[in-house]
Amino acid sequence: MVKPTDLNKFRKQRRKERGSGSTLCRSGFHQWKDDEAKQFDVKQGRLVSVQRCARCNATRTRVS
Ligand SMILES: [Zn+2]
Repeated sequence: MVKPTDLNKFRKQRRKERGSGSTLCRSGFHQWKDDEAKQFDVKQGRLVSVQRCARCNATRTRVS
């Protein structure tokens, strides 16, 4: 069981991270990381790689 004080600390930290992250993300500076598990071939036979933002969890696909 997590103590309430620890939980509050954790939440505060999370909020801080999300705050700074979303500011950058809203400005279009996403922190894209390749999501290797989600690479797949689409119907056209092209390899599509999925990238996920490490901060806001947004995703985008790129055709290689
Ligand atoms: Zn983002």
